[in-house]
Amino acid sequence: MSDHIKLFIPGPVEVRKEILDAQAQWMIGHRGKPFEALFARVQSKLRQVFFTQSRVFISTSSGTGLWEAAARNCVSDDPHAGVVATVCGAFSERWANVFERNGKATTWLRVEEGKAIKPEMVRQALLARAADPARRPFEAIAIVHNETSCGLTNPLAEIVATVKALSPDTLILVDAVSSLGGVKIDFDSLGLDVLLTSSQKCFGLPPGLAFAAVSDRALAKAKTVKNRGYYFDFVELEQFLLKNHTPATPAISLMFALDRQLDDMLAEGLENRFARHARLAQLTRRWASDRFALFAERGYESDTVTCVANTRGVDVSALNRFLAARGMHISDGYGALKGKTFRIAHMADTTEADLQALLDAIDDFLIQQS
Ligand SMILES: *Cc1c(COP(=O)(O)O)cnc(C)c1O
Repeated sequence: MSDHIKLFIPGPVEVRKEILDAQAQWMIGHRGKPFEALFARVQSKLRQVFFTQSRVFISTSSGTGLWEAAARNCVSDDPHAGVVATVCGAFSERWANVFERNGKATTWLRVEEGKAIKPEMVRQALLARAADPARRPFEAIAIVHNETSCGLTNPLAEIVATVKALSPDTLILVDAVSSLGGVKIDFDSLGLDVLLTSSQKCFGLPPGLAFAAVSDRALAKAKTVKNRGYYFDFVELEQFLLKNHTPATPAISLMFALDRQLDDMLAEGLENRFARHARLAQLTRRWASDRFALFAERGYESDTVTCVANTRGVDVSALNRFLAARGMHISDGYGALKGKTFRIAHMADTTEADLQALLDAIDDFLIQQS
């Protein structure tokens, strides 16, 4: 049995020992040359993972901080304009709330939990807005690429094409917290404006850092928006990034780990990494469909986390107690889906052998139950 509990939850994920160890280096000052070199190294590698020539801001916060950043930098306080927030589960709902709590006019475009946001719905919302003489075009649209609570991936490219065709000035803000690094998202080809993620999911790092690719267009918009605050101000972050600095003291230990992990991700090869995620997902989906059912709408199942509909009424807490004895842990359903679903994350550095061991253990539990 392993010396610790391996996490198969959608964040924080299992972190390899080499990565944990990479954090344990002597401190360096964040205004000196060694830090500037570290920042420059991770910046160029992050740009590869985000498929962009643009900047990638590094934030000492979790991904939620960058939700707030996107809200405060990319949407004005104009009550007649604002953001259209697409909502298909718990995380996209929370991001919509973040816009509202920051005082931004927020139009909710909601579908039933477990269903995908369809380009046609977005088209209708954009047409309705264009036909409304009292309102201005949406300044931004918010899309959660991979809705972690449902194990569902939205058709990002199709949604983006719809927005570009009907409302070209609308900024496209994408949360890829539980997919970026495991699934290919090409920031530059898609023409995205903000693409944000956290360290503790597909990057396979401990929690505490978040990253966002930001377009020139989004940065230009930020300069026109009032009350951007300070900690997450894109304009401030950009000034420091140009000198390979961060405005405030960053989580330097995590950046050591990031430097090492990005090397390992690029050594694996990004396309290989994405293909591995797709294989793990197929394995999990086949297993789950044979024994239970999949919660996400057919055709939109996530390649990084599978949400299993608990059709056998398994006691998920009892299952986790059983798994703990074998050094493993999975995730119960999120919020209202607790007990009705459970989730198996297959992201970051998970191997086929790790995953198969987990699925075998759950099978042993099911046999014992029957
Ligand atoms: C985990 C998650 C978040 C929240 O990120 P934190 O790093 O915990 O702040 C946001 N969106 C999605 C889709 C997530 O999976």
